[in-house]
Amino acid sequence: MTDSPTPDLVGRSAAARDAALLARLDPSRPATLVRAPGRVNLIGEHTDYNQGFVLPAAIDLEVWIAAEPWDLPRVELTSLELGETCSFEFDNLGLASREAASWIDYVAGTAWAMREAGLPLRGFRGVLDSTIPVGSGLSSSAALEMASSWALAEPSAERPSPSRMAAIAQRGENAYVGVNCGIMDQFASAAGEAGHSLLIDCRVNEFRPAPIPSGLSIVVCDTGSPRRLSSSEYNTRRSECEEGVAVIAEREQGVTALRDVDAAMLARNRSRLREVVARRCQHIVEEDARVAATVTAMAAGDLAEVGRLFAASHASLRDLYEVSSPALDAMVEIAEGVPGVVASRMTGAGFGGCTVNLVRYGAEQALRERVMSEYPARMGLQPRVWIVAAVDGAGPMPPPAA
Ligand code: ADP
Ligand code: MG
Repeated sequence: MTDSPTPDLVGRSAAARDAALLARLDPSRPATLVRAPGRVNLIGEHTDYNQGFVLPAAIDLEVWIAAEPWDLPRVELTSLELGETCSFEFDNLGLASREAASWIDYVAGTAWAMREAGLPLRGFRGVLDSTIPVGSGLSSSAALEMASSWALAEPSAERPSPSRMAAIAQRGENAYVGVNCGIMDQFASAAGEAGHSLLIDCRVNEFRPAPIPSGLSIVVCDTGSPRRLSSSEYNTRRSECEEGVAVIAEREQGVTALRDVDAAMLARNRSRLREVVARRCQHIVEEDARVAATVTAMAAGDLAEVGRLFAASHASLRDLYEVSSPALDAMVEIAEGVPGVVASRMTGAGFGGCTVNLVRYGAEQALRERVMSEYPARMGLQPRVWIVAAVDGAGPMPPPAA
């Protein structure tokens, strides 16, 4: 945890958690403890596949693996959350040999991709624990992959850079697990920096840390809404963006993605686009500009401007990109009425999942209480609220004090 003013949300101290994990292994053998954070995207939605910019932060909802090295080319891992032990052999990591999908595929997929990248693997027996809610859009899967990448790494081998490791884990999730995710989740979990968000350029996979103004907490509100952006809606948005690029590129030099289009270029070509495509393109072009403007406003401590940018992003996702939902809109509306809430918007692909809020220290509980009292009555859904801090990316943890 960083200097967040909030208590440990999992209700147990970090030292007690580490000790409990390690106690499950053979005490006579040396065990290592690795951690990897989940993430929340502050702004820059649906810009990743348009080769634009995103601004996620790694957060202190995390996955931990306590691992005891094994001489065998084999992994055996117990998920405390699921109460399930799974194993796999390095020799059987072929894509075709897999059976029904299981959570261990995220670990095996990371091993597969590491080996494919030429990295030596180390077998281990271990225990996995997590405080990241699964499937809520806070990237429990990427955190599991990044923690696995540390547990699997041969300690004497040179470690690739966080961005390279993120690309390897993404390849594992894409090709081995079969989930067509972008690189943001793994990137944030691998490269996060305490007190910072990461400005990631999704064209070249480079990043720079962008400080979050002091005195602000990040509060994540889960709408409890089961509807998520379906893959057909997602694919439709992607093909509408591609259609926009194709039409604009007929008249403009050097346009290969919406990342290359600015407001003036879009205005010049707007009448040649289908109306729905024009609206999708407008969202992406303006959202990319909002990411840059948010980094500038945060650096200047201009919280009013950050609030305006979050509100504009939410309205654009609702009205132009059409991926919000009544539940997400209600959650943002409730937050905006709470004194001390600086900025609020939907985060993630849409139609469900979470909102992200920047909140002045001391106002977090007021937001939590308002959400808990107003939201269920309004939507008939059970929300969850997490007060989180921006933390460092994945890595080994020092052994707990005896
Ligand atoms: P998210 O938004 O949380 O990343 P995903 O659907 O991408 O949602 O990934 C969730 C999957 O990751 C789970 O279904 C499970 O297979 C795996 N996973 C995450 N956390 C754990 C855990 N603690 N134990 C076992 N599997 C986990
Ligand atoms: Mg995921």
